[in-house]
Amino acid sequence: MKPSAFEYNRPETLTEALDVLAELGPDGKVLAGGQSLVPLLNMRLAAPAHLVDVNRLAELSRVEVTPDAVTVGAIARHAEIEHHADASRALPLLRQALTHVAHPTIRNRGTTVGSIVHADPAGEMPSVLVLLGGSVQLASSSGSRTVAAEDFFLAPLESATEAGELATSVTFPIPAGHTGTAWLEVSRRHGDYAMCGLGALVTLDEDLRVASARATYVSMGPTPVSVDFTGSVVGRSYDSADWSDAARLAVESVEPEEDIHATAEYRRHLAGVLTGRALKAAAAHAVARTEVPA
Ligand SMILES: Cc1cc2nc3c(=O)[nH]c(=O)nc-3n(C[C@H](O)[C@H](O)[C@H](O)COP(=O)(O)OP(=O)(O)OC[C@H]3O[C@@H](n4cnc5c(N)ncnc54)[C@H](O)[C@@H]3O)c2cc1C
Repeated sequence: MKPSAFEYNRPETLTEALDVLAELGPDGKVLAGGQSLVPLLNMRLAAPAHLVDVNRLAELSRVEVTPDAVTVGAIARHAEIEHHADASRALPLLRQALTHVAHPTIRNRGTTVGSIVHADPAGEMPSVLVLLGGSVQLASSSGSRTVAAEDFFLAPLESATEAGELATSVTFPIPAGHTGTAWLEVSRRHGDYAMCGLGALVTLDEDLRVASARATYVSMGPTPVSVDFTGSVVGRSYDSADWSDAARLAVESVEPEEDIHATAEYRRHLAGVLTGRALKAAAAHAVARTEVPA
């Protein structure tokens, strides 16, 4: 199918882009990697009057790693972050999750910021941002603002980004202490959106006992769903902890919906099984990172 007719705008600078977006208001749609937007246009599920292609804005391509956070610019591709050695060392969860995002060809073009603004509850990177307590930087011709991940995802395919705004970057904070992470998911075929997936984050104390444990799920609700398991595992040794209490809590906490890929009951079952495995793997990862300093 072919999209409805639209005007194509390709600003050369951020200032120019923000001016164009301000002028167009709700008639303008940002085009980043196009891996979600172009299929929507072709199926005529979206028909914006104007596209604003931001791919010439070189100032938004940065991936910056500091001791506190990894910040990713709006046109940095999934693949670039997946293969960024410093980002992966500082925040292994990025690569752990990104290898599950679609296929390499889509990751070569699709952007992590675009994926987050797109706010698909089946997308991996919105859940990563929520799990790490990150934030989104939004700019418009009248100024800029930062929105915390927990306030950013409003509904399926709906984020806090307003007409005329451009998401310039997202920031993933690096957790403190002996922290390990894992990403697990189940999909019908490799590269498909997950029927259930989760990122797990476990922090251990100096004696390698669990200090905190939590997870954020994909495809388990209209937005990323977070569950804090600390109460059921705190103080247990990382290697003798029984994660089955956490798995039971996960099953009670998620509210998946049925669709053509899986029943709600099957998705809930997956949440329980994957939670136990992911928390165990994240605890082992925390120990491995403690023993082999990055
Ligand atoms: C076959 C296939 C399989 C896929 N599987 C997965 C998967 O398993 N997991 C997954 O997470 N994703 C998957 N994707 C989607 C992929 O990750 C996309 O790259 C991503 O969702 C959108 O990024 P993009 O840069 O392509 O954004 P675009 O398609 O260009 O834009 C998407 C939306 O976000 C808006 N937008 C983008 N960037 C900005 C910005 N900086 N500021 C304001 N608005 C912006 C656009 O206006 C549009 O509404 C798949 C895609 C395909 C085609």
